[in-house]
Amino acid sequence: MSSACAAYLVTHERAARNVDPDVSLLSKDSTQAVARVPRPASAPAPVAPAAQAPAYTVREAPVERTFAAAAQSIGVDAGTTAILSRAFRDELDLSRDLRPGDRVSAVFDTGSDNSKDASRQPLAVRIMRGSTAHDVFLQKNLHGQPVYYSKDGVSAGPAFERYPLDFTRVSSAFSLRRFDPVLHRWQSHDGVDLAAPAGTPVRATARGVIRFIGRQAGYGNVVVIQNPAPFSTTFAHLSRFAKGLRSGSRVMRDQVIGYVGKTGWATGPHLHFEVHVNGVPQDPLKVDLPRKRSLAGDELRQFESRVAQLTALL
Ligand SMILES: [Zn+2]
Repeated sequence: MSSACAAYLVTHERAARNVDPDVSLLSKDSTQAVARVPRPASAPAPVAPAAQAPAYTVREAPVERTFAAAAQSIGVDAGTTAILSRAFRDELDLSRDLRPGDRVSAVFDTGSDNSKDASRQPLAVRIMRGSTAHDVFLQKNLHGQPVYYSKDGVSAGPAFERYPLDFTRVSSAFSLRRFDPVLHRWQSHDGVDLAAPAGTPVRATARGVIRFIGRQAGYGNVVVIQNPAPFSTTFAHLSRFAKGLRSGSRVMRDQVIGYVGKTGWATGPHLHFEVHVNGVPQDPLKVDLPRKRSLAGDELRQFESRVAQLTALL
């Protein structure tokens, strides 16, 4: 065995239906993958204790039905598949974006000193969508739980902005019950009113699909966006909508969706903004939103060198 192989034993296999994904086949792809690991010709061969040598296994499968089915067909456990589905959600809508012919590949550490858990949590996962690669890389957190990051060390997954616009003040807070100054009756206020001059652009706070765009009693011109589960957001009293949007349109985080107005039951220009979690209105100023986490310092440097190694294998 060459010294490169001692450090990086790579097996490459192609998962097919009815083939046990745990059966590793050494193919000629493995030699190519190993050859990509750089080693200066003049330097002495690295000596790695045999017991600690990581054994990387690369598996891939076509997407025939869902990402989850493809991931599980190459040996990813169900819990990790759910974590990965969330990790890819910022870039991809897994239920709409994947087409037959797209592929999922993953690098596993199948070294002998690893627990069974580790061998089912891939170190790197790529979704090949057409000719575009979407990659995430494993970095366990302090509690040993798997978290996936994009190659720049930012945690992968949906990100939310808290505020959809530059506003001057909160003109009415979220409340379960309040006196409505227009209707002159007690009712709950399912969102927050953010005062801003008419015409101020209103932006989507996260990626999503427009579930409703149009006029509704009370709300006036309103946009409802289905964001990555379990979130949805509502933007009401708009003077007008951004051009080209309709029900079913996809929007990116920060995309302008409309402009502040006072359509519907509104006494002055403001945005009525709602955040629903599993269909239940929450206080938009306080609700827990998915945040990005960035690796830094030594952790980032180690992560980056591992990313370079793993990317060469995908
Ligand atoms: Zn309101």
